[in-house]
Amino acid sequence: MKRLITFIMLGILVIGVVFSNGYVYADSVDNFISIRLTSPVKSNEVVHLYGEEGFLIFNKRNLTDYLEYITEEKIKVKIVDGKSIAIFDMEDNLIYSYKQEDELILTSSNYRNVQVEDKNYRDFIEFKIIDGRLLIINYVDLENYLYGVVPREMPAYFEMEALKSQAIASRTYALKNLNKHSSQGFDLCDTIHCQVYGGMDGEHERSNWAVDETRGMILTYNGSIIDALYHSNSGGITEDSSDAWGYSHPYLISVEDRFSTDAPNSNWTYNLSTDEVKTKLSNHGIYIGSILDMEIIDTTSSGRVKKLKIIGSLGEKVLNKGEIREVFGLNEIKSNLFTVKKDFKGSTSSLVYAIDGEGLAPQLVDLNNVSVIDGNLKQRSSRGLISRFINKNGIVDRELPQGVDNFIIEGKGYGHGVGMSQWGAQRMAEEGYSFEDILKYYYSGVDITTNNR
Ligand SMILES: [Zn+2]
Repeated sequence: MKRLITFIMLGILVIGVVFSNGYVYADSVDNFISIRLTSPVKSNEVVHLYGEEGFLIFNKRNLTDYLEYITEEKIKVKIVDGKSIAIFDMEDNLIYSYKQEDELILTSSNYRNVQVEDKNYRDFIEFKIIDGRLLIINYVDLENYLYGVVPREMPAYFEMEALKSQAIASRTYALKNLNKHSSQGFDLCDTIHCQVYGGMDGEHERSNWAVDETRGMILTYNGSIIDALYHSNSGGITEDSSDAWGYSHPYLISVEDRFSTDAPNSNWTYNLSTDEVKTKLSNHGIYIGSILDMEIIDTTSSGRVKKLKIIGSLGEKVLNKGEIREVFGLNEIKSNLFTVKKDFKGSTSSLVYAIDGEGLAPQLVDLNNVSVIDGNLKQRSSRGLISRFINKNGIVDRELPQGVDNFIIEGKGYGHGVGMSQWGAQRMAEEGYSFEDILKYYYSGVDITTNNR
């Protein structure tokens, strides 16, 4: 793969792929990327393909002449002897077999789509054997890839200028992240980890139009391609990348975002009981006993929660940034831009820590059950006589510490908050802003240039 990328970068490959029937497949194979397909996978042992009028097999480095024509429209692909990729007809007769190193790819003879299990993909399908499993890779032209990404990352009914902004952000993101999976033998995966890609089935004429209208356009800063991160809704202010992940980019700084204050998930509330907190923590291997309290102890410059302390009867746990949504759920705590309110519901919980004169570990005791005894073990007073507490500064505090029953998380926005807010882009487009305005608003100081890859 590395070799191939170098090869592509050097631009040695053929410019303009023309099939024998005169059909121009793509401007250049320089623009092809490899996407690991996970969504159609039913089995790692056998994959079913359907190709109208059969299949053509090519060497990846020479798309002008095919090596083999398979007349069967339905084929099965399997690993044989742990190292060969073999193509069978539906009666299990071997049609063709090759080694991964041969770098072969196949497409249907109609030059339009290959059906992999029950999903359709443009361009070529490549198979690789990784750890004894068959990997299905879509070797696809970048613009065709974007047809399958834009409607999965942004609803196709969004305003055209918002869809164009998404197309440019997704194109930029793909090119910037080409090495994300290079050690595994492909460029990008088809999940939220990279960008969601649904192949042909999810395509929509509006999002295809947005891709076509922005063909080749990417975002650069001082001539370098940017990391075009995006999210659903900023909640009113975007996040600086250095606050989110510790690396700073001049184009990913926090911006005030009034466009994201009146849209789905601009405001949300999530209630959870102390028991639910305990369960969620223990599901992630965190055991701190009964939950007594929760407090935000640090926030980023945009106000997003950096550190959330949870106090339990057996200890405390500080959750950092990403851990918070991981533990409580990405759809429950939709962003880190939140505050915590507490619902006491007149609880009579009176659990406190007490430590004896020997300085042993603090013990959890219920004040309703305590007595005060003197040095001769003689009872001096009971709980009934204790009416007020004095804190360590000698100030009379309150009668009894109240226990929390519920936490009310009040938040704004959805997603990590870095870069373009998709709902903000939609609102800007509704107000008449162009895709240039939208992209330059969310990515500070960038230029929109044409991809010369
Ligand atoms: Zn990925």
